[in-house]
Amino acid sequence: TDLERVELNSIIEGVFEIMQNIANDKNIVLINNSSEKVFIKANRNRMKQMILNLVDNAVKYNVPSGSVTVSAENAGGKVIICVKDTGIGIPSQHIPRIFERFYRVDKGRSRNMGGTGLGLSIVKHIVNLYNGIIKVNSEVGKGTEFIIQLPC
Ligand code: ATP
Ligand code: MG
Repeated sequence: TDLERVELNSIIEGVFEIMQNIANDKNIVLINNSSEKVFIKANRNRMKQMILNLVDNAVKYNVPSGSVTVSAENAGGKVIICVKDTGIGIPSQHIPRIFERFYRVDKGRSRNMGGTGLGLSIVKHIVNLYNGIIKVNSEVGKGTEFIIQLPC
């Protein structure tokens, strides 16, 4: 797959365009909190898929009038991408399994929302391709934050 010099702010804006209508329906605000342009040598479509899957979850598992905040920044020779929501959160006992294919926290609830449980497994796959790491912080009833570190 083609490697390009990808500017992550434009990717975030493109993802927000895709998600804007769905966010509006729930009165959720999408915030791009990046303060600088961040470049990474990667495949554009993969970067977009990775951020889209996280923002899709951040909207889908959010509460009415919640928010989704995304940022990309350079830090110590690495790129840090953060997707944070004000949603329902993930109970800690489920966190070790959420990157597995088809794993969903609440089968009943998730079924109503559509989806297959593949989004995060794809995110993890892309992060691994670029030798990055992904971390999750979550608090039930408060929200969830995914942090990706990629070498650049
Ligand atoms: P798909 O992404 O295929 O449409 P999905 O969203 O259910 O389906 P994943 O994106 O892989 O699948 O997420 C797995 C599970 O992790 C979800 O079903 C949900 O229970 C939980 N989850 C993921 N992101 C969040 C989030 N931001 N807040 C709360 N729960 C989340
Ligand atoms: Mg998903």
